[in-house]
This record gives sequence, C-alpha cells and structure tokens, in this order.
Amino acid sequence: MTALAAVRGFKDILPDQAGLWRRVEEQARSVAARFGYVELRPPLMEKTELFQRGLGEATDVVEKEMYTMEDRGGERLTLRPEATAGMVRAVLEHNLVEGGRPARLFCLGPMFRYERPQKGRLRQFHQLDVEVFRDPGPLIDAEVVLLLHSFLAELGLGDLQVVVNSLGCASCRPQFRTELISWLTARQENLCPDCRRRLTQNPLRVLDCKNEGCRQATANGPTLSRHLCGPCREHFDGLVAALDLMGLNWVRDHRLVRGLDYYTRTAFEVHSSSLGSQNAVAGGGRYDGLCAQLGGPDVPAVGFAAGLERLVMLLAERHAPAPPGPDYYLAPLCSEALDPGFKLAHQLRARGLSVAADWEVGSLKSRLKRADKLGAAKLIMLGPEELARRETTIRDLAAKEQRALPLDDPGLY
Ligand SMILES: [Zn+2]
Ligand SMILES: [Zn+2]
Repeated sequence: MTALAAVRGFKDILPDQAGLWRRVEEQARSVAARFGYVELRPPLMEKTELFQRGLGEATDVVEKEMYTMEDRGGERLTLRPEATAGMVRAVLEHNLVEGGRPARLFCLGPMFRYERPQKGRLRQFHQLDVEVFRDPGPLIDAEVVLLLHSFLAELGLGDLQVVVNSLGCASCRPQFRTELISWLTARQENLCPDCRRRLTQNPLRVLDCKNEGCRQATANGPTLSRHLCGPCREHFDGLVAALDLMGLNWVRDHRLVRGLDYYTRTAFEVHSSSLGSQNAVAGGGRYDGLCAQLGGPDVPAVGFAAGLERLVMLLAERHAPAPPGPDYYLAPLCSEALDPGFKLAHQLRARGLSVAADWEVGSLKSRLKRADKLGAAKLIMLGPEELARRETTIRDLAAKEQRALPLDDPGLY
C-alpha cells in the first residue's frame, strides 16, 4: 500500500518553518494591538449563499474557485475563500456595531480557493484580515493603510509603495460603468475571451486585465476619476492628504479596481520591491454597501487582506535567525538514570524551563550531538557517578564549562 500524500495545493507547515510563521503572526498581532484592533475568529465554513451574495455571482472566486459541498443535511456550504464576508456576517449577527463607536477587528487564518497551485500560491493559504465598521472615513481609510504599511515595514519589506484609487459610489459609478461598457463594446474584438464575457456584468475588471490587447483597448478609455461625485472626490482627497501627512510614498492608479464587486470609493494596494515581479503584497478598500447587501443595516466599512505565504518565504530567504532551542537537553547515561531524569525534567518544566530529552540510554557523544542539533543551551548529564552523589553535571554548550548541581533541588537550575 502506498503512503498517502497531502492534497494538492494544501501544504504542511513543518517544524522548521513554524517559527517563521509564528514570527509573522506575532508581528500581525502586535501591530493590530498597537492600533487598537481586536481579534474576531469566524468559522472556516459558511453558507455558500453568503459568498454568492457578498462577493457577487460574476466574480472569478464565486464562479470557479470555491470549495463548495453539500453536508449530510443537504445544506450548501463553502470553505471561506476570503475573510470579509464572514466577518461582516459575524458583526451583523452579534450586533458588534451597536453603541455608536466603530468596531476595529482583525482575523488571522487559512482561506481556501481552487486555483492552479504555483510558487507562493496555494489552495489553502493564510491571510491577515483587518476590517473597521461604522466609520465612513477618510481618516480611518488612511489608518488602515498605515496599519498595513507598519506591519510590512516592521517585517523588513523594503521600498513600500501605496497604490490608491477611488471606485466611486452608487451614485457616480453607474454613469461611468455605462460609458465604459460602450467604449469597450466598440473595441470588443481586441479583448480577451474572459473580458468579452464579463464586459456587461463586471466591466471594471477589464481595466486590470493583464492581457496586452485589453490593456491597449483601455489605455485612453474613460477613467473613473472624471466621473466621481463631490463626496467621493472629497473622500479621496482626504485620504491622500492623510497619506501625505504621514509621509507615505503613494501613487494613484486608475487601473486599480480590485476583483470584487463590493468595493466603494477607496481601493488600495501596497507594493514592495522585496517581492520581485508579483509585487502587490496586500490590498483592500472600502465596502460601504456590503452590510446592507448581506441583509444588515447600512454600515460603512473598510479593510484589507494580506497574504502571509509570501511574507514567510521572504523571511526564509533572508535567513532569519532560527528560534531559540530548549534551555536544557537531559541525557540519562545509564538505565538507572531514566526514572530520576524523567522526574527532574518534569520538575524543571513545571518551573517554566524548557527541557528536551530522549528516554533511552545513549553514549555521551551521541547525546551531545542531539543537544547541538536541537540548539539546547545546556546539557544535563545523569550517569552512575552523578547518581551516587545525588547530583547532575551541567555542561554549558556555548561556554564549554561544566559544574555540578544537586539532583533533588530543581530550584537551583
Ligand atoms: Zn460618488
Ligand atoms: Zn482581458
């Protein structure tokens, strides 16, 4: 029988990588805490309808990337392909926006999309997701951008650039949409099959298509900035003024539309040269209509998602220092040492020290090798001579010094 392997696009995070993951996650928690954001952990699975209504039926994610199944009761369920829809559902269900003050939330965890696996893109991938409810902006938009920027800068990403755009609102976008559809329809033969198909349903997506024909067709086309209504224009000006105030390097990109239907006004990405060609590290925007679209009250919201896989890869390439090993490696050098060694290890662990050990008798040479491999700071030797004196020999592996300690006084270790 052949041994089973993991599912394609689903990856084990092995112990030698787990330290890097913890570093990225701890960095995310630390920045979020300093900005006053609290954690919300929605479940990984939601009703399929939530994503259909939240993300829009005509999006790539809903059309072809969701892991959807029917449970034994006949209910259609989907593994979350992104966090926002579930966050909104939870916020509405538990009334977290009552009381007038904005809710600042974050979530860390896996998402699932049936995409073609490639380097840095998996079917189970991980994100930091940040969402703020009830604050119409634009300073809160700038705060969210700043939180993301701080997270990336503190992880050591260089040359950070903020790319921003305004996607307008329900009152000014339809007019632009109509103009864009007629402009694109006249140039239909130059568009790729995907864009031709989504031309009437999701014409904004044509703007960020990477296909050369599509890029040329839209090069001199209508831009949303000329169609923005007064409040949208003011909102955008307020956002970039705040980015200027913080000295952030930003540019406006008319092609930045993001993939999902629910964005309104602010859309943004942060790019870094540290990540080479696929250089958008993270992105997000404002989604003032989503709460109402999911059956809740009209609650403005803004947020972003940052993929963690590439950040972990970047830290790995930079040879980030390995996490520290245990305080002690305990080596029983004769069979009589196994029981007292076992007991001592437990007493030290109960006192808050980390102790690694293998419960078998081995030569000193092989135990030294193990201690070294685990990165232990000190070796505890327990052999016949030590047992006779009710002592242990402690070897400091860096300083290469030895001393004796009483076997029965764990407080001295
Ligand atoms: Zn508007
Ligand atoms: Zn295209």
